[in-house]
Amino acid sequence: MSTYRLSTKFIHAGAEPDPSTGAIMTPIYQTSTYVQKAPGVNQGFEYARSQNPTRKALEEALAIIENGRHGLAFSSGVAATDAVIKLLNPGDEVIAAADMYGGTYRLFTRIFEKYGIRFIYVDTTDTANVEAAVTANTKLVWIETPTNPLMNITDIKAVAAISKKAGAWLCVDNTFASPYLQNPLDLGADIVMHSSTKYLGGHSDVIQGALVMNDDSLREKLYFIQKSCGAVPGPMDCFLVLRGIKTLHVRMRQHCENGIVIANYLRNHPAIDKVYWCGFEDHPNHEIAKIQMRGFGGMMSFTLKNDSVEAAHKVLSSTKLFSLAESLGGVESLINHPASMTHASIPREERLKVGLTDGLIRLSVGIEDAEDLIEDLKLAIG
Ligand SMILES: *Cc1c(COP(=O)(O)O)cnc(C)c1O
Repeated sequence: MSTYRLSTKFIHAGAEPDPSTGAIMTPIYQTSTYVQKAPGVNQGFEYARSQNPTRKALEEALAIIENGRHGLAFSSGVAATDAVIKLLNPGDEVIAAADMYGGTYRLFTRIFEKYGIRFIYVDTTDTANVEAAVTANTKLVWIETPTNPLMNITDIKAVAAISKKAGAWLCVDNTFASPYLQNPLDLGADIVMHSSTKYLGGHSDVIQGALVMNDDSLREKLYFIQKSCGAVPGPMDCFLVLRGIKTLHVRMRQHCENGIVIANYLRNHPAIDKVYWCGFEDHPNHEIAKIQMRGFGGMMSFTLKNDSVEAAHKVLSSTKLFSLAESLGGVESLINHPASMTHASIPREERLKVGLTDGLIRLSVGIEDAEDLIEDLKLAIG
């Protein structure tokens, strides 16, 4: 399977005809347990927290599409992140990106700090900051690229080299790019994390997370955490993500195409101050983005010249096609206010430090007709 090209992989990854019937689609194995012929004599499945055939097919698919050896599926993206941090011990240090998904920051600061794990936040777009933060206790480097919501890009290859030298794992949250646009394992990362809720699922109908890795012993450790802590997805949800993956490439191509059109429209709009999108040639990390990504996707943020909550609220409540909602990566376009929605769990001072202002608006550009999306924005922005 690994020798096939991208689109072929997305369609055929993990898809073996069901051995009991020949069903071309992996059935939803809605079962909690499996009958054994004699104690310990089974067909590789004992209890569904540990093994489920639908999940197994999905985990194989996840590995294939991220060019990894092993995939693990979790009940949400944050559950996948949670499993990675559980690799660590009290006293261990994590170098984490200063600008990242609010829920990741909340998990690190509000849950794991109290167990004695230290998180050092640095601007990872300048990899010298990562190098400077390394200590003898550094065990994990956590980056997100592009970041949510400011679309900052970190050089994965450079950070992988620093992590390797430090003897630390590098985990990359690849949710925004999706495996269609970027494969962090190929660039030296140890673990790739996804909120499968977003582009992998692609239809805003499932909550799920994923980890992909190459190293066998790392897989064993993470599988042990997965089955011991139990944050596993149900078989129906695994089926939905498996189905989503089959069209990831066609959806992403359209997200990219619409993204270019909308980003340029926003940039030329007289009422708009700044557009954050890594596809612009003058984006500070555009050169790195061009090297490590195959396209720039449909995620972008912008501020109005009138950067007030009131002005932002007017836009946010005026669009008709762009629905006001958290989340991203579905076929339909969404509009979001990070300061009060997805990133409300980050203190205001911390938000402002990284440039996440009160008026910032984030778009997840869907795969509708771009002309309709522009008309919708035109009516809302004026
Ligand atoms: C949504 C999201 C998460 C969290 O995933 P859930 O599936 O909501 O738990 C993590 N990282 C990024 C970049 C996200 O957008």
